Amino acid sequence: MRTLVLADSEVGTNNSVSDTTLRVIGAASALGHPVDLLVFDTASAAAATQIGGVARVLCASAGDADTLAPETVAAQLQALAPQYSTLLAAHRALGRSALPRAAALSAGAFLADVIALREGAQFVRGLYAGSVVATVASATSCTFATVRSTSFAPVPAVGGAAEIVELAPLAPFARTRLIERRAAEQSGQDLGSARVVIAGGRGLASPDNMTRLGKLADTLGAALGASRAAVDAGYAPNAAQVGQTGRSVAPDVYVAFGISGAIQHLAGMKDSKFIVAVNKDPDAPIFSVADVGLVGDLFDVVGALETRVAEPRA
Ligand SMILES: Cc1cc2nc3c(=O)[nH]c(=O)nc-3n(C[C@H](O)[C@H](O)[C@H](O)COP(=O)(O)OP(=O)(O)OC[C@H]3O[C@@H](n4cnc5c(N)ncnc54)[C@H](O)[C@@H]3O)c2cc1C
Repeated sequence: MRTLVLADSEVGTNNSVSDTTLRVIGAASALGHPVDLLVFDTASAAAATQIGGVARVLCASAGDADTLAPETVAAQLQALAPQYSTLLAAHRALGRSALPRAAALSAGAFLADVIALREGAQFVRGLYAGSVVATVASATSCTFATVRSTSFAPVPAVGGAAEIVELAPLAPFARTRLIERRAAEQSGQDLGSARVVIAGGRGLASPDNMTRLGKLADTLGAALGASRAAVDAGYAPNAAQVGQTGRSVAPDVYVAFGISGAIQHLAGMKDSKFIVAVNKDPDAPIFSVADVGLVGDLFDVVGALETRVAEPRA
């Protein structure tokens, strides 16, 4: 039995494999079988061979990796599936669109957003925005699953000595054509990899106040996050949304300003290692997951922090 990990389309600096992919390999290692990594970005194949715990790097060339269609990836996974008992990818755009297709093509099972793996190939996943946790055993010989990367520790990026296996070039999927891909405008730290996230909710009350919070986040070297209510109100861009329908984050510190703590928001941040919540409502559900809760006006706290960071360092 072997496990195959599909590398995420996001690539780290200098063509290294992204932290997200290292975490999915961490998840795969828990199954106790040899782990192979499938990369479409041939430039990162050499770096991938160094990853601890990877036996083989399968290098597929499908033309321009930037225009890779999920259908093309699914066809590649279908071709490889007979060699593997489990095929994993991050629960992000590529994995979410390619793996269900590959599972259907291969008559395998598909499980989404897995948060833990147990012995005996049991998969743990949240339902209803994480309010119910289900442990699922697959009844098929080949299981495809997307995993929530922030729930798993990354394997080391160095120390391995995997062999590279070149795969035959794939015929690209012809029925759709990607015309343009544009990255959402992003300023400051990347939300997914930041060690500190400062997030604002509807309590911010205006786009200007969110901009002010963003400046504080920048000064502190933190990424700016937002609740969906804040995004819907136009205070913050879509890319900043944390939660069930936004990004899942698990930074060392998550600071929530004026966020009530709806279950859909908690689903995306409750794995953070240390949570600070500032809310004027002492009964706000965010306090149920907070390590430190401050009942009060967020603007007093933001003002105090701004004053503190502006003070010259001793
Ligand atoms: C299918 C579905 C998916 C969803 N996905 C997401 C998701 O991915 N992410 C997400 O966040 N939500 C999501 N939601 C929405 C979610 O249910 C909540 O509506 C949303 O999280 C509320 O955002 P909020 O906490 O900013 O706003 P509110 O619930 O309105 O809370 C604002 C908070 O600010 C506090 N406040 C106000 N003024 C101040 C002040 N001056 N000082 C201190 N505190 C103050 C208030 O006491 C209140 O607790 C989803 C909902 C559905 C149905």
